[in-house]
Amino acid sequence: MAALHLVILGRQGSGKGTQCSLLVDAYGLIHVSTGDMLRSAVAAGTELGREAQVIMDAGNLVPDGVMNGIVAERLSMPDVVEHGVILDGFPRTPVQAEALEDMLGAAGTPLAGALNLDVPVEVVIARMLDRGRVDDTEEAIRRRLDLYESETAPLLDWFRERGLLTVVDGLGSEAEVLVRLQAVVDGILS
Ligand code: AMP
Repeated sequence: MAALHLVILGRQGSGKGTQCSLLVDAYGLIHVSTGDMLRSAVAAGTELGREAQVIMDAGNLVPDGVMNGIVAERLSMPDVVEHGVILDGFPRTPVQAEALEDMLGAAGTPLAGALNLDVPVEVVIARMLDRGRVDDTEEAIRRRLDLYESETAPLLDWFRERGLLTVVDGLGSEAEVLVRLQAVVDGILS
C-alpha cells in the first residue's frame, strides 16, 4: 500500500504538536514541521537560516518559493517515501497547497487528507495565558491568532473544495482527541 500523506492544521495552542507525536507513534508516519526545519536552519546558521530568521522575527511568512523548495526536497527523502508523512505548518498559503498537490501528484502519492484540529479562539487564549510565558500577553496571543485566521481561512476552503478537509473537535483530553483523529485516519486507510 502507498504511504499515507496527511496535513494537520490547527491554531497555536490547539494541541497539534502533541497529537502529531501521538499520530506518529500510532501510524509510523514521519512528522515534518516546517517551523522546526526553519528553526534548525537558524540554529545551524545556514544561509537559509540567516534569511529566515529576519522574516520569522518579524512574524512574517517565508516566501512560497523558498518553502516549496525545502518541502519538495524533504518529501523526496527515503524515510518519507517509505513511511508517509504528517505535514505540520505547511502548506500555509494556497500557492503552497498547489505546489504540494503537484509534488505528491508527480510522486504518485496524492494527499490523503487534511485534518483541522478545531479549538475555539477563547479556549486557546485561556490555555496560552495559563502556561504563563512572558511573550504570551493577551495582546500578542491575539495578534498571532489573527494572523493564523487570515492565513488559514483560504486554505481551509482550498482543502474543502477538494473533499480533503475533516474538522476534528480538539476539546477534551489528549486521549479523547486522539481517538477522534484516529477514527478519521482509519477511515482514510480503509
Ligand atoms: P510555526 O512553528 O509553524 O508557527 O512556524 C514558525 C515561523 O516559521 C512562522 O511564523 C513563519 O515565519 C515560518 N514558517 C513556518 N512554516 C512556514 C510556511 N509553510 N510558509 C511560510 N513561513 C513558514
